[in-house]
Amino acid sequence: MSKSDIEFDRQHIWHPYTSMLNPLPAYKVESAKGCRLTLDTGHEVVDGMSSWWAVIHGYRNPRLDAVAHRQIDKMSHVMFGGITHQPAIDLARRLIELTPEPLQRVFIADSGSVSVEVAIKMALQFWLAQERPEKHRLLTIKGGYHGDTFKAMSVCDPVNGMHHLFNRAINSQLFAEAPRLTPDDDWAETAGDELRHWFEQHHHELAAVILEPVVQGAGGMRFYHPEYLRLIRQLCDDFDVLLIADEIATGFGRTGKLFACEHAGITPDVLCVGKALTGGYMTLAATLTTKQVAETIGHGPGGGALMHGPTFMGNPLACAVAAESLAIIAEGKWQQQVAEIEAQLKQQLLPLAECDAVKDARVFGAIGVLEMHHPIDVAIAQKRFVELGVWIRPFGRLLYIMPPYVISTNELSRLTVAMKDYVETQSSIKA
Ligand SMILES: *Cc1c(COP(=O)(O)O)cnc(C)c1O
Repeated sequence: MSKSDIEFDRQHIWHPYTSMLNPLPAYKVESAKGCRLTLDTGHEVVDGMSSWWAVIHGYRNPRLDAVAHRQIDKMSHVMFGGITHQPAIDLARRLIELTPEPLQRVFIADSGSVSVEVAIKMALQFWLAQERPEKHRLLTIKGGYHGDTFKAMSVCDPVNGMHHLFNRAINSQLFAEAPRLTPDDDWAETAGDELRHWFEQHHHELAAVILEPVVQGAGGMRFYHPEYLRLIRQLCDDFDVLLIADEIATGFGRTGKLFACEHAGITPDVLCVGKALTGGYMTLAATLTTKQVAETIGHGPGGGALMHGPTFMGNPLACAVAAESLAIIAEGKWQQQVAEIEAQLKQQLLPLAECDAVKDARVFGAIGVLEMHHPIDVAIAQKRFVELGVWIRPFGRLLYIMPPYVISTNELSRLTVAMKDYVETQSSIKA
């Protein structure tokens, strides 16, 4: 008798961040529609994760499905070297329209991590072109996450990041302390002293600062005061350092603004977007920069080319779906959807801060987080959540959701009720 599919999967297929010896269980999903996943058992679960920030318009969105079908009937892929196509042009137009005015040059990358690599190459080539090779280091803030490729790993949190294993293979960057003040705190002028110190000491060797604006995602789901961002923008200007904003998780409305940088009223020199870019249909990301940065690189060594060009760059199928996803964003419904999700999350999650097992409850835009005192047993919690009809994937001490924007009030309540159930079970065990 052949192995069951699940048994085959366990033995042969790596899943994210789990061992091959005793992997966490994987649930087999047959199909998905709207905000629901259907398992092979026929059981339906409400998706609280948007497949990691990505599926903002829901699964099998009719508009995105239609565009994907139309594009497949023309061509799924063609190389981007020496060739261009309508989907790439439409996508770049949309990106330039949606992002702040100075961001005018677009590099279409194949995943978030790659867009971060490209952003870093832009910064390094920018200084090389000005014959300032000593400006080659990066400054970031602790608690960040920028992806799984090597240069991106080098700017993830150095201790809690998932990559400390590779410390000896990764050249070390500069890490300022994680911002302490949250968006709800009063700003204290002294909060910026440490940052100023880093710039004063290191500006001569700094190519760029890279950070996630206001919301630190996979590094710990923390929200920080936008004034930090305003200050860093100012310091970058004063000390001649580029600012790279990684909006791969926060972009396209998730935090209540189209881009999280807007909370601070700043524009970065380089912007990374990904995850929700295609509405979560397939992998695609982009790195945008200014005319000035692009033209400076253009005067640099290597004939002025940006030294990156992946095989599937500008994939037409992904670009077509992304352009349509951004068309939906441009219509603006996300504003009310995110505001409503935020209000409901505040009402239903913040009171759970009173429970024994909960260290902190926080909500920002369409993101709800319960930070527990103790690490969560993912396998046990996940099983319980599936029984309760929800898909929530905790990590570490964090129980968090960032649902599709199109989620209904009832579906969102299913998620928060399940989170409450978990918290109450834990609190009573401890009591
Ligand atoms: C997910 C993420 C990345 C990496 O994107 P991938 O598509 O997984 O390579 C980088 N930065 C941030 C902020 C992210 O949330």
